[in-house]
Amino acid sequence: MHESPNEFCVSRRKLLTWAIASGASAALVSDAAPAEANIFMPSIAEQKKLGAQAAQQILKKYRELHDSRAIRFKQIGYNLVSALSPEDRRTWNFSFHVIESKQVNAFALPGGPMFMYTGLMDRLTNNSQIAGVTGHEMAHVRLQHWAKSYANEQERSLGLSLLLGLTHASSIVQKLASVGDSLYTLHYSRHDERQADEYGLANMVAAGYNPEGMIELFMVLEKMSSSQPPAFLSDHPLTTARIADVRRLIREKYSQDLHRPMAGIHG
Ligand SMILES: [Zn+2]
Repeated sequence: MHESPNEFCVSRRKLLTWAIASGASAALVSDAAPAEANIFMPSIAEQKKLGAQAAQQILKKYRELHDSRAIRFKQIGYNLVSALSPEDRRTWNFSFHVIESKQVNAFALPGGPMFMYTGLMDRLTNNSQIAGVTGHEMAHVRLQHWAKSYANEQERSLGLSLLLGLTHASSIVQKLASVGDSLYTLHYSRHDERQADEYGLANMVAAGYNPEGMIELFMVLEKMSSSQPPAFLSDHPLTTARIADVRRLIREKYSQDLHRPMAGIHG
C-alpha cells in the first residue's frame, strides 16, 4: 500500500489504517488469545506493537523537536505517568513527542506513544492546559478505546458478511485479515470522549495540576472551531454536554484544587 506524505499526515485514524494495512494485520489475528471477551479485541501486546510501528512511521515523516517545548511536554507527560496506578505504569509504554506541524492536533497511539503538534502546543498558554490534553489522550490509551472501537467495527463487519450469506470460512478469514479496507473508519464515541475526560481530569489533578486547565483547553479549541476547525476536534468532538460534564466533575470532586497555579507543579 502506497500513501503519499500528504495523505499520511491527515489524521490519527489514517495513520493507524496505514500501519495496519502495511503489516500489522497478521499480528492482530495470529497472536495469543485476546484478553477480552470480544474475539476481535487486539491484546495489549498487539496494541503496543501496532502503536510502536505507527510511531516509527510518524517520526520518519515529521521533524521531532528537542527544544524547550519538547522538554516541557515530556516533563508534563511523565508527571502524569508518575501519578498513575502502578499497574497502568507497568502496562503502557508512554512516550511524549513534539512534532513540527501547523495542524492544531495531538493524539496518542495505542500502547502509549503520544504526539503533540506545534500547531496545538503553541496555542496552549500554561502547563495545566497541556496536562489537560495529555491526560485525555493517555486515558484513551489506558482504557483501550482504539482497540475496543476496532473490535466493534470488525464485529459489525463480520455481522454484515453473515447477513449477506458470505458464511464459508475463507471469506471470514479474509475479512479478518483485511483490516485496512474501506470499511475501516473508527471514531471515538461520545461515551469514550467523556470517559477520557473523566480519567484525564483525575490524572492531571493527581499529578498536581489545576483542573481548570481542561476547561481552558476546551475554550482554546472552541474559540478556533468557528474559523479554522482544529484537526483535534475531528477525532475528539467537543460537545456542550462534554464541557458541562467536566465543569460538574470539577465542582463536585476537585473544587479544592482550583487554587493551584495554572503553570502546575514545575513552574
Ligand atoms: Zn478524545
